[in-house]
Amino acid sequence: MAQYFDLVIRCPACIADGRDGGLPGYWYHHQCGGGLQIGDDANYQCKSCFQRHHVRNWRYACEQHESDFRATTSAHLANAVSTAGQLTSVAGRRWLMTFLENLGDW
Ligand SMILES: [Zn+2]
Ligand SMILES: [Zn+2]
Repeated sequence: MAQYFDLVIRCPACIADGRDGGLPGYWYHHQCGGGLQIGDDANYQCKSCFQRHHVRNWRYACEQHESDFRATTSAHLANAVSTAGQLTSVAGRRWLMTFLENLGDW
């Protein structure tokens, strides 16, 4: 059974563009406004509409590019999640290792 936690990360698309991605923040599902969670099965799940898809299928819009949804890469998302102190302190090291295994290479 995958474990899900609130997604609190810097913007992985900005990191992929060579910027620092700002401060870690909560992320919301564009389609419904629901809060997003991240699982160690490497899916995002919406707390409102319960859509769930592998993280490789999502795009990001942050305050630097508000309506421009941009992609990231597995390496840059791994960076964003691994350095998300609030998330990793709650989820723990084993969760992070499983997430990285299920993240894949893309
Ligand atoms: Zn961004
Ligand atoms: Zn939703």
